[in-house]
Amino acid sequence: MEKVLIVTGGSRGIGAATALLAGKQGYAICVNYLHNQAAAQNIVDELGKMGGCAIAIAADIASEDQVNHLFEMVDSQLGRVTALVNNAGILEQQMRVENMDAARLNRIFTANITGSFLCAREAIKRMSIKQGGLGGAIVNVSSVASRLGSPGEYVDYAASKGAIDAMTIGLSKEVADEGIRVNAVRPGFIYTDIHADGGEPNRVERVKDLLPMKRGGQASEVANAILWLLSDEASYTTGSFIDVAGGK
Ligand code: NAP
Repeated sequence: MEKVLIVTGGSRGIGAATALLAGKQGYAICVNYLHNQAAAQNIVDELGKMGGCAIAIAADIASEDQVNHLFEMVDSQLGRVTALVNNAGILEQQMRVENMDAARLNRIFTANITGSFLCAREAIKRMSIKQGGLGGAIVNVSSVASRLGSPGEYVDYAASKGAIDAMTIGLSKEVADEGIRVNAVRPGFIYTDIHADGGEPNRVERVKDLLPMKRGGQASEVANAILWLLSDEASYTTGSFIDVAGGK
């Protein structure tokens, strides 16, 4: 069976590292992105140099229409999806809850929660052996923030990842007898661009000495865990979490 993977937010950071590692493992890959076409094309070009099959598709996962379009493009260009990494996620400027307005909360919850649900929905329709599919695997990219709560920084973001943890548990049970496994990784403090969106590009450097391993993580270290959870080596693993957080 050909392995067809969609990585949401595959143009940069953890998603890009996941796409590149998946390319080495023989997946045909859809690199989804929001705006950064050049970054997405760069990953597709790298995958092409490895001899792999890859496409870049722009789609805002917060939009139901765009998620539907994303999966239809994959159907027609790569074939039936067998693996989904719900990686795309956002955070906003660090602030206390008392200063957060509804518009911000809705942006965070819609992108991080609704987006992951919509992508999971479309993947399940195509993977479920009860709906004519051949099974598959979903990995949600949560965060240690779901355990730590991110006080003073972004409790909204942490709460959205708490929802992803609950979704991972519930959905894994819902589709366990349909040939679909659902797991999650919880990265800790990883060197990517996301921290700049919170207003602190050097956040990992600031906190790294507080971590048990005394260092930040690389996106490739998260990708290793994601690819294991997608693989047949994890065939009896569902509803599980791998913390990739240097011991935090
Ligand atoms: P990043 O470097 O900021 O990259 C974000 C990626 O998501 C980009 O590819 C971006 O596309 C895409 N994206 C953003 N909003 C999107 C949307 N609405 N629809 C589709 N794509 C969208 O982020 P990262 O640090 O790799 O984070 C990836 C995941 O890991 C997130 O879920 C994040 O919460 C989680 N995480 C990260 C850390 C960390 O320390 N970095 C820790 C814990 C959890 P464009 O390139 O087009 O903008």
